[in-house]
Amino acid sequence: MSKEAIATVIYHEAIHGLLEAKGVPIDWPHETMAESYQTRIKIVLTELFPCMPIDDASALGWLGLTRTYQFHAIKIYDVQNATGITRNILQTAYDYQTNQRGTASGCP
Ligand SMILES: [Zn+2]
Repeated sequence: MSKEAIATVIYHEAIHGLLEAKGVPIDWPHETMAESYQTRIKIVLTELFPCMPIDDASALGWLGLTRTYQFHAIKIYDVQNATGITRNILQTAYDYQTNQRGTASGCP
């Protein structure tokens, strides 16, 4: 797993803690995260990894959030307009998780 993917997971889990502290209902943290924090994850990643392409950071921001209404809305737009965006997001996230892109961490 790349350092970028590891940072994404840590940030994702930290947001879970933040949402729990704020009293967000336990069934909805990913919907809240997709709506309000996906862009923040993207920004944090570009701050941590300044050479990281913004589209890659955005794709990683969707890690763990692909079952949300927001991601499904992107899928619907993608299917209706044949943009290929969801495939690109999923492929990019997979590449960072499998060390095909990003900074090698030494972790499998
Ligand atoms: Zn989660």
